[in-house]
Amino acid sequence: MGNYILSLDEGTTSARAVLFDHDGHIVDMVQREFPQIYPKPGWVEQDPMEIYASQYGVMMELIAKRGLSPADIHAIGITHQRETAILWARRTREPVSTAIHWQCRRTAPLCDKLKAEGLAPAIQKTTGLLIDAYFSATKLAWILDNVPGARERAKNGELCFGTVDTWLLWRMTEGRVHATDVTNASRTMLYDIRRGDWDDALLARFDIPRTMLPKVLPSSAVYGYFRLDGQEIPIAGIAGDQQAALFGQLCTEPGESKNTYGTGCFLLMHTGETPKFSENGLLTTIAATLSGQPTQYALEGSVFVGGAVIQWLRDAMGLIRDAEDSEYFASKVSDTGGVYIVPAFTGLGAPHWDMYARGTIVGMTRDSGRNRIVRAALESIAYQTNDILTLMAKESGIPITVLKADGGASANKLLMQMQADISHVTVRRPAVRETTAMGAAFLAGLAAGFWHDIPEIRSCCSDAFTEFTPCMAEDTRASLLKGWQRALKAARAWSLEEEL
Ligand code: ADP
Repeated sequence: MGNYILSLDEGTTSARAVLFDHDGHIVDMVQREFPQIYPKPGWVEQDPMEIYASQYGVMMELIAKRGLSPADIHAIGITHQRETAILWARRTREPVSTAIHWQCRRTAPLCDKLKAEGLAPAIQKTTGLLIDAYFSATKLAWILDNVPGARERAKNGELCFGTVDTWLLWRMTEGRVHATDVTNASRTMLYDIRRGDWDDALLARFDIPRTMLPKVLPSSAVYGYFRLDGQEIPIAGIAGDQQAALFGQLCTEPGESKNTYGTGCFLLMHTGETPKFSENGLLTTIAATLSGQPTQYALEGSVFVGGAVIQWLRDAMGLIRDAEDSEYFASKVSDTGGVYIVPAFTGLGAPHWDMYARGTIVGMTRDSGRNRIVRAALESIAYQTNDILTLMAKESGIPITVLKADGGASANKLLMQMQADISHVTVRRPAVRETTAMGAAFLAGLAAGFWHDIPEIRSCCSDAFTEFTPCMAEDTRASLLKGWQRALKAARAWSLEEEL
């Protein structure tokens, strides 16, 4: 038995290789950024070979740096930016185009067409998703339509499709394994999340031959082997980044939830073996699922401007020099004195859905200085998170009592306490912040026998965390939330100019 699990985390802008020991501690990590390609406004691409080379590079650097032999690595787990679409030739293993990145908006017109065809309810029912250019289906269709000969080659069975996990797996197994896991399949907008199979009606609508799609396996399973120095290391865990973080935070029971406080915020709530469907714009998605387990589901919601409001304070407003300073200034005052910031810079997402709302500061008085503005910005992250949490609890019928936190802005203790107070939940922040890589490591370790079951992981890997418990008086909380609702109205009123 090797001493370590190697986790490969192919993020949006960088590749990481992280080595975990049996106690879930990070032994070492190597990271490298890779370039994004912006061919036109709104278009984002990456070079598939660059994606593979950067991930392979950090993995080999980590192995060399620690002097590891193949026997030291018990298994490999993979997690990555979700939804990015890659097509390659089965025989030559060459990509047929650049990878269309999850952020790329080039297929928005095709999405509008699908909506106009009235497909939204059926697509939500089958895939759990709202029609959007984020998801892989329209990106794959775009490549087939726009790369000369691609559609024909796909029909002849010459091409393979995959998200980044599938591409890495294919390359690392030297073309022996073409597979993905259920979490990634559920982000393609082609997968029937209840039946657990690619959906023929959607494949027909996009004219996508089934032969080009990967085999779908549980998130924790031996997919194949990576050959190193003549020995084989099992690749035994795969999940999309948000689902990997949910698993890394050990949210495996209904109601267990995590929020990743990054540039935006990603909230996921585990809903057990039952998919819950939202009427207010939350996504229904598959959570990491072990071999032999019934499919696990989650609800997902996101805040567009989370930690980005702190970047705005720093870069656009010049009120702070570093993101960390936000805690210092906001702590100098005990409240915002009635000031609210609604950072609707690009509109408002769930549950408000107003693409025309714009950023607003309300409730200013003569003494609303830097400290209060900074505090209001931090609070806006907690209020937006709370709006989604409240919606999730309501639509799932499952109350949330503990929220697990990760991501860059979770370093801010004041923000964590605000969240506990505003949402009246316990916020738990683990000592190991690499929860995404950790989730992939857990999945790989479980399939390869490094850990036997989830209770064993809970007992040996989740000891160190900080807890923030709610301590705000209920009437103060109610009055703050009322103020936030009024501030939202102000931000939305801006989009109704003609009615004012
Ligand atoms: P991403 O993965 O989305 O790039 P990260 O998880 O690295 O994001 O988090 C970066 C974000 O967190 C930035 O938007 C930054 O403004 C914010 N951030 C980082 N540290 C703090 C802090 N101490 N307080 C508040 N916000 C912070």
